[in-house]
Amino acid sequence: MTQITNHMPTKELQALDAAHHMHPFTADAELAKKGARIITRGKGVYLNDSEGNEILDAMAGLWCVNLGYGRKDLAQVAARQMEELCYYNTFFQTSHVPAIALAAKIAELAPGDLNHVFYAGSGSEANDTNIRLVRRYWDVKGKPEKKVIIARKNGYHGSTMGGGSLGGMTGIWEQGGLPIPDITHIDQPYWYGEGGDMDRDEFGLMRARALETEIERIGADKVAAFIGEPVQGAGGVIIPPATYWPEIQRICEKHNVLLIADEVITGFGRTGNWFGSNTLGIKPHIMTIAKGLSSGYAPIGGSVVCDEIAATVGGAGDFNHGYTYSGHPVAAAVALRNLEIMEEESILDHVRNVAHPYLYERWKALEDHPLVGEAVLVGLMGSIAMTPDKKTRAAFASEAGTVGYRCRERCFANNLVMRHVGDRMIISPPLVIKPEEIDVFIKRATKSLDETYASLKADGLLTAA
Ligand SMILES: *Cc1c(COP(=O)(O)O)cnc(C)c1O
Repeated sequence: MTQITNHMPTKELQALDAAHHMHPFTADAELAKKGARIITRGKGVYLNDSEGNEILDAMAGLWCVNLGYGRKDLAQVAARQMEELCYYNTFFQTSHVPAIALAAKIAELAPGDLNHVFYAGSGSEANDTNIRLVRRYWDVKGKPEKKVIIARKNGYHGSTMGGGSLGGMTGIWEQGGLPIPDITHIDQPYWYGEGGDMDRDEFGLMRARALETEIERIGADKVAAFIGEPVQGAGGVIIPPATYWPEIQRICEKHNVLLIADEVITGFGRTGNWFGSNTLGIKPHIMTIAKGLSSGYAPIGGSVVCDEIAATVGGAGDFNHGYTYSGHPVAAAVALRNLEIMEEESILDHVRNVAHPYLYERWKALEDHPLVGEAVLVGLMGSIAMTPDKKTRAAFASEAGTVGYRCRERCFANNLVMRHVGDRMIISPPLVIKPEEIDVFIKRATKSLDETYASLKADGLLTAA
């Protein structure tokens, strides 16, 4: 077989990709016609492709490359760990230093008494763990009937059978018999899209109280937990009204329902604090972590669990659950170094005092663009809603996502990665992004919005639904 390298012509790489590689969340046949964009290397906030383009990655990969691409220190840690102990498991009463050290570090950073880490290889796996963990907890407590988990429409918790079921994305449910039993979904706190004439805070309260209604409908004695992302990510970077989480917290406490904060995106500095729960004032019993935990340099995730749940589940014999790669030493060593670097280089300070304020000002200014209905940003995760009518916040008459897809294509052509969710554009740049890079980003984003606007105008698509 010929060696497949970065130096192969793009067309050949694309042909091999189309012939053998099935892509996640992709229509492979369509992609085969067009050819995948082949990314060859990365440095800081920039990626290179096989055609020699330099692309500003305003998504940090998939919300994960928080320290930016190409860090030699993280690569060296991985190499050293592979040589010393490439793998050992944490089953059968064994442990190893990277898993121990990382768990201790996460416990130090995590709020409250979230002092225990159950490792997984990804966010999806960690959420599957959470389903088993909360049901096991209530079982041990003598309440086996307490097993329903309430989640939210348009939430995202991964795409395994468990994670996809907790998520509220019908496109996922339609393929493969999801959601699995005993998971239900309430409406999301999406004021811009669903709040109508209601006051933002009133709407936040109303959507939180939907949880109470749902608990009462099912019976509190049957509800194990509620799960939500502090700020919805894949659903379109939806920042809930300030009234929302305190009310959710109150309702969970009142009805003895465990609270799981899915921090896979919001964890590790994304919102300007170590966790989104700090930023939004949430006191969860369990947090799901992944992505930024290792800045994407190695696949690792986990559940950060409070004292009471860890003691209850751990005190009742074997918890019959685990992954071969739970606490993988290489991934754990890389994640630990990633967190140390975040401290050494004061990344949270940078987000809070440099990157966020500067980006916020420039991002907010996009609200003057004729296509932009709102531009929101918490820490370094943000979104803009595109609309044909700013006053009414109307959706476009075209099928949802038509405009967003066009804008994403313009961004791609302008060497900018900005994703779309429906007709919202979303961003989550590396946390290390500098003001001069933010300038480049905004320049490319503005150009892309201008071109999108012009093309919509030309095609008569600037009409409200
Ligand atoms: C990405 C994501 C997941 C799934 O993580 P994977 O590592 O892709 O399995 C779960 N929850 C949230 C909030 C996410 O954004």
